[in-house]
Amino acid sequence: MTHPLIAEALDGPIASLIDGEMVAGGGAAITLIDPATEQTLGAYPDAGAALADAAHRAAERGGAAWRAMTPTARGATLARAATLIERDAERIAAVESLTAGKPIRDARAETARVAEMFRYYAGWADKIEGRVIPVASGHLNVVTPEPLGTIVQITPWNAPVFTAGWQLAPALAAGNAAILKPSEWTPVTSIMLGRLLIGAGAPKGAVSVIAGFGHTVGAALVADRRCGKAVFVGSVAAGRKVAALAAGAGRPALLELGGKSANVVFADADLEAAATAALGAIFGAAGQSCTAGSRLLVERPVYDAMLEKVARGAEALRVGPPSDPDTQMGPVHSARQRDAILAMIAQAQADGARLVAGGGALERPGCFVAPTVFADVTPEMRIAQEEVFGPVLAVMPFDGEAEAVAIANGSAFDLAGAVWTRDGAKGLRVARALRAGSVWVNGYRTISAQSPFGGMRGSGYGRSSGAEVLAEYTQAKSLWLDAGAAAPAFGYGAPGR
Ligand code: NAD
Repeated sequence: MTHPLIAEALDGPIASLIDGEMVAGGGAAITLIDPATEQTLGAYPDAGAALADAAHRAAERGGAAWRAMTPTARGATLARAATLIERDAERIAAVESLTAGKPIRDARAETARVAEMFRYYAGWADKIEGRVIPVASGHLNVVTPEPLGTIVQITPWNAPVFTAGWQLAPALAAGNAAILKPSEWTPVTSIMLGRLLIGAGAPKGAVSVIAGFGHTVGAALVADRRCGKAVFVGSVAAGRKVAALAAGAGRPALLELGGKSANVVFADADLEAAATAALGAIFGAAGQSCTAGSRLLVERPVYDAMLEKVARGAEALRVGPPSDPDTQMGPVHSARQRDAILAMIAQAQADGARLVAGGGALERPGCFVAPTVFADVTPEMRIAQEEVFGPVLAVMPFDGEAEAVAIANGSAFDLAGAVWTRDGAKGLRVARALRAGSVWVNGYRTISAQSPFGGMRGSGYGRSSGAEVLAEYTQAKSLWLDAGAAAPAFGYGAPGR
């Protein structure tokens, strides 16, 4: 029995959207669990590798039809999709909140951002321009950015519809077809989004959304020779597998992986503002955010004061059911996730970190973990190095700028970071010294489709937003037009006349 909200949203059971149709898979059953109650929300069969072929066939046809439209018409389609997302926002947010265990106010905010993404990239669709190179041969050499064909996009469960929009909008704006494979645990809002895109006028097949496991249909989609590029958002381990599969097929990949981001607070900072932001940075989305500010580095003179603020702030957070508009932090996504987080908490205690808030599961049904704060964490502890992907903050003291930068840059991840200080020059210096794809000064978490987002080193490569993403989704084609000036020559021809 599928939860009525899901059945209503999809006009039927959970299935893959291929060629504009809902297609049931033939693989093993996948059961969705409500993170807030651990009750079953419904089950559906894994798409299985067989549907990968159907999706690629549809994408070849749909992609050709999409490219046959003028860039302006493609942009208008994406803009219409934004309007449809706004029309259905409340329903999308409700399903997102239910299936991802996300507080409804966060689900609403993220859904609104998805509409923004489509509007932003709608504007780009007819502004992806080439250039003319003054080559010595006298040809008119024109460089045109060409779509890659079919982009396979694989996304995780922590912010399903936000991530789906973040990936689909630029890929489509650049003239590609997209096959999205959301997490098997949260496919519904991505399928809703795919249907809205087709409703907005995208050719059937230009967008497919596949409901199934990564190791079955996800891997088959990437390994297929019709995959033009694999875009992966998720864990390091799965990302490496996806990149290896893409490489095996001779195709590029873009990886958006995890983080262990440092939030650096200097003694001269506005501590009240820094503490409020630090709480949002780690406890927003119950810590299940790639940019989570999971390491709080505090300059020693204000260490105790800051620790007190975040510990008391953690205890005061309103943890509750995702459907309650007052809830600030909901459950973590699954029993498996909860148990992994609890194991990391136990490990931190065994390693000598001092527990100052939370520290366990909440005594209530559902996958709830108390907002947890550890003090006196040292850089070599696992809690300072490994991504927990849960509501666990590691607070560490430091002395001076150089040590702050050394600790902040001492993790295997380089996704995001922040600096808090009233000294503008110091803020700038440290922000520049932090090795991370996004760094905030006196802030945290703000991202925009208009600005490039992505990781460095262990957090992945490539940028999935801003104007930068257009280079990820296109390839340069060099057109040599004979302007009558170059004498035909055997071989490569003389470079000049
Ligand atoms: P995950 O790696 O387990 O799964 C992510 C996706 O990969 C899912 O769709 C899954 O089905 C698929 N997958 C798994 N194995 C696969 C395989 N062998 N072949 C093809 N596909 C495969 O990650 P998760 O647990 O869903 O999400 C949590 C992780 O995602 C965290 O590490 C988090 O930091 C990361 N994340 C990163 C970003 C970012 O933008 N950098 C954003 C959100 C989440």
